[in-house]
Amino acid sequence: MIIDCHTHYWEPKHLGEAWLAQVGRIKSGEVNERVCVTPDVYRRAMRPAARSIVFGMQAKAAGIMVDNDDLADFVTRMGGGVIGFLSVDPTDPGAADEVERASQDLGLRGVKLGLPYQAISPVDERALRVFERCERLGLPVLVHQGAIFSSAGRMVEANPILLDDVALKFPQMKLIIAHLGHPWVNETAIVMRRNPNVFSDVAALYRRPTMMMAGLSAAHEYNVLDKVLFGTDYPFTNVEGTIEGLTPIFEAMSRTFPGELGPSHLEELLHRPTLELLELPDDGVSLQRPDAAGVGADGAGGDSPS
Ligand SMILES: [Zn+2]
Repeated sequence: MIIDCHTHYWEPKHLGEAWLAQVGRIKSGEVNERVCVTPDVYRRAMRPAARSIVFGMQAKAAGIMVDNDDLADFVTRMGGGVIGFLSVDPTDPGAADEVERASQDLGLRGVKLGLPYQAISPVDERALRVFERCERLGLPVLVHQGAIFSSAGRMVEANPILLDDVALKFPQMKLIIAHLGHPWVNETAIVMRRNPNVFSDVAALYRRPTMMMAGLSAAHEYNVLDKVLFGTDYPFTNVEGTIEGLTPIFEAMSRTFPGELGPSHLEELLHRPTLELLELPDDGVSLQRPDAAGVGADGAGGDSPS
């Protein structure tokens, strides 16, 4: 079963001027940042994945603010197969309480943070208060800690090595470092190696093949490849496109590590038991169930990207 652990929900109303003005800095130039994520559009992008984790993001400094109630409503409209993660901006004084409200009242099962986008260091007291609440509530945290396109925050505070302190302080909290923490992929590997509670994902990184290869090599050499999870970063890319992009990368890896690393490791990545590893519940409902809107030929659903 393919599980996409890294997907975004937003609608145009959630995106501010700063975000829209700067998102064009993403390398590919293929991003439709004004996409309105509806269940039909989303489900098509997830093919052939059977489950996914979806989140909004709240980052005032970067100009994106997805309301947790809107995200919870999207999860409900999907009708199963998706697990919703709430987001808070740790610079907001009510952030820890919102973690509690959105998890208890809205049924959201984890937390998404984008610390450089939120212009805050992981070891800032305000961020630690959020992590403390997440650990107490048993919520895994997927954190973007690495390079960003936005001018928000400081790169000196964006290195995933800083998450080592967080992982040590909150050993019961599962932490997923998005995008292998690029460009600091080696730092991500060593933080994963010594902290059983730390994982990472490959979302969107196939578009930087040398970075992806460096990250996978580090994960392999430090023996933590089994803690690297499959994710896309939808709507920046989709599941089929990501598999297509990863295939030649794993083929190339098999030449670097003959007999050690190759296409079978891509299969393992695609079928990683992510829900089990993160101790998340599986509702047993497939995103690709035949009766769901958006399943089938392109155009079968009513919605299209706006
Ligand atoms: Zn993302």
